[in-house]
Amino acid sequence: MIKVEKLSHSFFVGKKNNRQEVSVLKDINLEVKEGEIVSIVGRSGSGKSTLLNLMSGYIKPTEGDIFIADERVTDYKESAWAEFRANHLGFIFQSFQLIPSMTAYQNIELPLVMKGVSEKEREKRVNEMLDKVGLKAFRDHYPSELSGGQQQRVSVARALIVQPPIILADEPTGSLDQETEKELLDFIQKLNKEENITFVIITHDEEVARIAERTIRLEDGRLAADREVAFR
Ligand code: ADP
Ligand code: MG
Repeated sequence: MIKVEKLSHSFFVGKKNNRQEVSVLKDINLEVKEGEIVSIVGRSGSGKSTLLNLMSGYIKPTEGDIFIADERVTDYKESAWAEFRANHLGFIFQSFQLIPSMTAYQNIELPLVMKGVSEKEREKRVNEMLDKVGLKAFRDHYPSELSGGQQQRVSVARALIVQPPIILADEPTGSLDQETEKELLDFIQKLNKEENITFVIITHDEEVARIAERTIRLEDGRLAADREVAFR
């Protein structure tokens, strides 16, 4: 589903006349199969978010190749990436990244508006989704009127609404309490089993690593381990 080949990335930092190259990812090779839950672990600063941002097309790699769903996306321009994301990728973030001025309903609806789905179809799909994530009673609440766990469920619903085959998550449980975290992880497992959605989840949380079939460890920008978990 996702293949990363000889991927390296450097950032350039500092003033114009004193640019310094900082190498953040070095020669990463990895593969994520359809229907897998893969967790990416490693210390803060080891390059996890950079790797996810490369897989999302938000930054372009200095070297190497990225293939997603059999397409070579490495050289895609922003417009091609935007369309590719809309059809293949859902995102979940630690900070939820909901739009504060929009209700739960409107936040979940947004990707469908951007895709040009008709209002009637949107209404049907958003209501079904609200039901699925258990937020029917909160459809007209603004993010500030929801608990952290409810906000994360809105963000998961927004990621799922376009029915992407892959979901990329950057520390999705980072700001949830234990109970809420368990609910989210159970829901991720259910989606993975029932709808065969592939998940790549960055985490430094052992609970998340527990639901993953594979754990990939980054150390200083290098892939230090890629191992299958025997059972889950
Ligand atoms: P992680 O998610 O594992 O904590 P990141 O991928 O965010 O790590 O960052 C890896 C390294 O890259 C860090 O040293 C960070 O300072 C650096 N870095 C990340 N983004 C940028 C950027 N836009 N410009 C310069 N350096 C960056
Ligand atoms: Mg990070």
